[in-house]
Amino acid sequence: MDFYWSADQQKIKTDIIQFAQDELSADFIERDKKGLFSRQDWNKIAQRGVIGYPMPAEYGGKDGNILDTMLIMEGLGYGYRDAALIFGINAQMWSVQMPIVSHGTSQQKEKYLPKLISGEMIAGHCMSEPVSGSDAYSLQSTADRGGDYYILNGSKTFITNGPIADLFLIFATVNTNKGMWGVTAFLVEKGTPGLDISPVIEKMGLKTIPMGSVELVNCQIPLENRLGPEGGGAQLFSGGMEWERSCILASSLGAMEYELEQSITYARERRQFNRPIGDFQSVSNRIVDMKVRLETSRLMLYKVAWLKSIGKSAVMEAAIAKLYLSECFVQSSLDAVRIFGAKGYLSDYGVEGILRDSVGGLIYSGTSDIQRNIIARMLGL
Ligand SMILES: Cc1cc2nc3c(=O)[nH]c(=O)nc-3n(C[C@H](O)[C@H](O)[C@H](O)COP(=O)(O)OP(=O)(O)OC[C@H]3O[C@@H](n4cnc5c(N)ncnc54)[C@H](O)[C@@H]3O)c2cc1C
Repeated sequence: MDFYWSADQQKIKTDIIQFAQDELSADFIERDKKGLFSRQDWNKIAQRGVIGYPMPAEYGGKDGNILDTMLIMEGLGYGYRDAALIFGINAQMWSVQMPIVSHGTSQQKEKYLPKLISGEMIAGHCMSEPVSGSDAYSLQSTADRGGDYYILNGSKTFITNGPIADLFLIFATVNTNKGMWGVTAFLVEKGTPGLDISPVIEKMGLKTIPMGSVELVNCQIPLENRLGPEGGGAQLFSGGMEWERSCILASSLGAMEYELEQSITYARERRQFNRPIGDFQSVSNRIVDMKVRLETSRLMLYKVAWLKSIGKSAVMEAAIAKLYLSECFVQSSLDAVRIFGAKGYLSDYGVEGILRDSVGGLIYSGTSDIQRNIIARMLGL
């Protein structure tokens, strides 16, 4: 076992940090206050090759290794403050692009992957509904087969990228009595008659990536836009979720490293009772806990990325990584707020924003409770 990154891999990370600091927008705090999405930054990140890094070269990707992809995401999370935009990119990569790579026909891959990878198209993943969240397969949206088409009806909500998406991966059932075996996936383009996208839904954090709802009213989809077989949607969804749970929090690792460094600097500079606050053990212990969470999260993430890179199933490891990293990120972000005192609570210092953004990680891709359920099931409980 070797815990070292090669010089080339280290360079991948330092290069992306440099790129983020030099070329991506620095007006994040203002955009966060107004909830403004930066299409320009999305395009720059796409053109840099990030969105296609682990995707097949024949569709515009780089055939990159998953471990290296994690280093890129970690570097981006460290060098770029817009965690929401990175989250939107990740949501597209793991839960839309990966299912197309794994289950798409060559026609679907040719039609959509190059445009998603280049930034020309943005995609949203539509599983959640007003009545079905954690119990995803109890969805109510229906897909009725005609001759060579399906008619979709239903409501999807909490869709990351929804208001800016050009393409939607939508899950609906061909038979509500079949449970998970009726769930089927469809690729639906913006502008399809019967597909209605809501305005932006306001939320606590991740404000610079818009979230919306999608209404389907007699939305006719050609057979060739079904992704995977009829009834194969649950398998496709769980495969996408395994990727997402494995990889989506890599950028949070970078953000945790950034907030640790900021906290150390502040604890050295800020003086109270005639000494730096870092001299107080309550403060230094908090920083130590942040460091321990960062390093243990790193081990979890790299292990699951390594398993995925050698093509192994990682259901339990993905659930552990998602649970552990998201909880650590919230805890460390709260510690950073405490260390910065009132400045940690003010919008203009950027510390509170990281905390707000981190909370979403406890919920998306399955809540912490659901990750515990998966781990318990894998343990035979
Ligand atoms: C920032 C963000 C982005 C999102 N992006 C998307 C997206 O792009 N596409 C999409 O389809 N969805 C998206 N979602 C929705 C997300 O997948 C759901 O919110 C999540 O699955 C939980 O569903 P719910 O909100 O309906 O909560 P519920 O399922 O109603 O759960 C409510 C509470 O009950 C607990 N609970 C429920 N069932 C169990 C159980 N069996 N055991 C233990 N506890 C349980 C939950 O843990 C939670 O605490 C997003 C959510 C957020 C916050």
